[in-house]
Amino acid sequence: MSCPECNQPLKNGYIVSSRRISWSESGESAWAEDGSEVLIKDAWFKLKKTPALKCEACHLVMFKHK
Ligand SMILES: [Zn+2]
Repeated sequence: MSCPECNQPLKNGYIVSSRRISWSESGESAWAEDGSEVLIKDAWFKLKKTPALKCEACHLVMFKHK
């Protein structure tokens, strides 16, 4: 699979996070994550790994949530 932005080959890997990763359509900073959609949930005992694709050329990272 190649990058949708620059067409370079994408590297397979994982998003590694011990914290939740959320999506928000608002660019404003917020103290709470109310109203944002959780893409990757908190992991309490081990780091959660979500399969992802990364472009080395333009630094785009893509992952599927759920
Ligand atoms: Zn790219």
